[in-house]
Parts: sequence; C-alpha cells; structure tokens
Amino acid sequence: MELLSLIRRKHAGLELAPGDIHKLVAAMVAGEVADYQLSALLMAVCYEGLSYEETFALTEAYVNSGAGVMEWGEFDGPLVDKHSTGGVGDKVSLLLAPWMVAAGMYMPKMSGRGLGHTGGTIDKLEGIPGFRADLDRDELHSVVRKAGCAVAEQTADLVPADRQTYALRDATDTVDEIGLIAASVMSKKLVSGAPFIVLDVKCGSGAFFRDESRAMQFAKVASRLGRDFGREVACVISDMDVPLGCAVGNALEVIEVVEFLKGEALLYDLQVVCEALGSTLMVLTGQFDIDDRESAVESMRKTLMDGEVLGVFERWISAQGGDLAGLYRKMEALGDYRRIEISADSACWIGEMDALAIGELAQSLGAGRFTKADVIDPLVGLLCHRKTSDSVVPEAPLATIIAKPDEPRSDSDLRREYLSALKFEHTPPGERKIIHGIVSQGWDE
Ligand code: URA
Repeated sequence: MELLSLIRRKHAGLELAPGDIHKLVAAMVAGEVADYQLSALLMAVCYEGLSYEETFALTEAYVNSGAGVMEWGEFDGPLVDKHSTGGVGDKVSLLLAPWMVAAGMYMPKMSGRGLGHTGGTIDKLEGIPGFRADLDRDELHSVVRKAGCAVAEQTADLVPADRQTYALRDATDTVDEIGLIAASVMSKKLVSGAPFIVLDVKCGSGAFFRDESRAMQFAKVASRLGRDFGREVACVISDMDVPLGCAVGNALEVIEVVEFLKGEALLYDLQVVCEALGSTLMVLTGQFDIDDRESAVESMRKTLMDGEVLGVFERWISAQGGDLAGLYRKMEALGDYRRIEISADSACWIGEMDALAIGELAQSLGAGRFTKADVIDPLVGLLCHRKTSDSVVPEAPLATIIAKPDEPRSDSDLRREYLSALKFEHTPPGERKIIHGIVSQGWDE
C-alpha cells in the first residue's frame, strides 16, 4: 500500500477517497502497514480533521474488518444497545440494562475494561464473585434469552481494525479527533447488531469531551452515522464535571446500584441520566412519542418502585455466574483495608468538584489501571457523600476513602488529595445542570 501519498494528501488538507480508506484499513488488518507511517497519517488527520464522507468510509471499513455484524435472531421486544464515552463513577449500564428489560426490551451489551481515570463496566461486574464476562456467542445468546440482558467483554474479532488503530492512537496521542472517535465508537455499536442505540456522551472535567460544543459536535456525527447505516441512534449529552452517584470504585459501585434498586440509596444525578437515556430508547423504539417523554419516565419510575428492575438485575447477574451475597460478604470482611473519613473544616457548600482528579485518586488507590497489565483491586475506592451544590458541615463526613492495607500514602495525605479536588463556597451555589441536551436525526432537545 502506497501510504506516503495519503499522508501527503491529508497533510495538504485534502480529502481521502473512500476507496483509499477501505484499502488502507484492509492493508492494516493484513499487517501490511508500518506503524510509523500510520502514526504520521493519524497525526495529519488530527490536525486537518476528517470530513463526514471520510468518517463514513472509515466506519464502514472498520465494520467490515472483523467477523461482521452479530446476528441475534427473533425476540418478542426491541433489541437495544447503549454506549458511554466514559466517566467517573459511571455505573449507568449496570442500571439501564435491567431497567430497559423491565420496559420490554432486550439489551446484549459488549463492553470494555477501564483504562485511565474512567472505570469500565466489565471491571465493575467482575468485582462480583463468580461473574463471568468472557462469554462466547452461544453463552451470550443464552444469557440474553434467560435474563433479557447480558454484558460481555469485547472479543478480538469485534472490529479488529479499531482495536489496532486505537492502540496506536493511544500511544501517539492521536485519539482526539471527532471523526476518528465517531468511527471507533459507532463501528463497535453497528457490529453489535442492535437496531436502536443510545449514546451517553459525557461532557466535563472527568470526560473525554471537556466542553459542551465538542460533545455536541460528536453527537451530531454519531447520530448521522447511525442513520446512514440504517439504525436509530440518539445521543444524550450528560454532565461529567462531578462523579456520577456516590461511589467511585468497582465493587463499591455495584453495591451502590443494588442499594439504589432496593430503594435504600437516593442517587439523584444517576437517576436523571438513566431516565434521560431510558426514555430516549423508549422514544426510538416507538413505545412513546417524542412529545410524551414524561410518560416514558413515569413508566420507568413505576418499574423501579415495583421492584421489577431489581428482579431483572438479580436474574441477569446470576445468569452470568455472579454471587451478589458473596460480594456483600467480601465487603463486610474488609479486615485491614483502611477507611478514611473526610470532613470540611467549616460549614459551607461545595461549589465545584474536579471529576478527573477524583477519578485519578481512585485509580491510584488501585480501582483503575495505569497499564493494561495492572491488576485492579475491586474493593478500594471512594464514597463521595456530598457533591457539587451540597452543603457540608465539619461534624459529618463529606467523603470516605477505602484504601488497601499497604497503601503507602498517609491518611492525611489522602485527605489532602481528596480535598484539593473540591472548591468550597460560603454562599449556596446554583443548581447543577445534569443533562445538556439530546441529539438525534430528526429531533434535538
Ligand atoms: N472510545 C472509543 O471506543 N473510541 C475512541 O476513539 C474514543 C473513546
């Protein structure tokens, strides 16, 4: 493959022809492209950008690079999928999958592991003793038939071209280009086979997209790709300036989800994000009209209050081998793990939280990886009892850190690190904006 001419073309700000993009991706998967040349091309793409036509061709080439679109056969309800661009404390998939099953849908979901400061759904679920995410296609089908939803680890044949390119993008700091991100995310969703897809596009300090305009730009490209590939796609742009819910850490987040489902924990922001995504899927699948989103949310609340969502959640976890009671036993027997309670010096309000700093603190405690080979500790993490816009008093902890027995930092160092991620104010801050907008082909809100 003559790659130099493509590099020169992109470098000059010109478009690449769809045929050249297809040939390039095929050659790359065949091992015929040198990493240094591909890196140079990726860098030129980051400077010059990809047009929509180039992004479409790249997505198509990625989709064609593996074992093809997954077949699911007949179900008596719509097959839906969900993807998050990643955040801190983002346990939405754990809730939304059973919630949508309770609403009559089926959700087989391929997920990744966490890398960096954002957690991964597979890592969270593997905190449950016995839970298996390495399902083959037959097992995945059988769990979806039994429980309505399943979460499995992405296999190597799921868009191998993206897997290869992503590793190089990560190593050469060429991740951050809207077309490259859209092709990477959407090819994996298209291959997963669901006709209805909702994307949770996070925006804020703990997210991939720091500002609303880039999140919006991505959402427009992703939903247009969805339409052009014959799928119904909508994007919810949600806040990631603040960790979602209270827990940040793998087993801690699963326990928080169970408490929420049992009605023992009120997690306002998490509920708002799930309701926005869930009601969007209900609109996409035709269960509710776009003007009647409120009724969709009402029906979601009913299944939650009736305990239906909890019932599906328990069925699903046990269908994948998970033992929830075993998880509770593990958390109760924390033994030498250190619990550090953090309070404010005086009564005031939290004006801002730095979700990135909090995610990095959780990662450094062992809740996340710095390299792919790192082993995470499912039990460590943080509980953010008070968040942005909440009042705090010195008598009650605003956060708790759970650290490994051999954590080298002292309690006061960890306390200082956590507090440095917060900004306190002496007057009540305004209300947080949790949903920034919803973008789809056909309607924007
Ligand atoms: N997540 C993905 O799957 N791909 C990207 O390019 C960025 C985030």
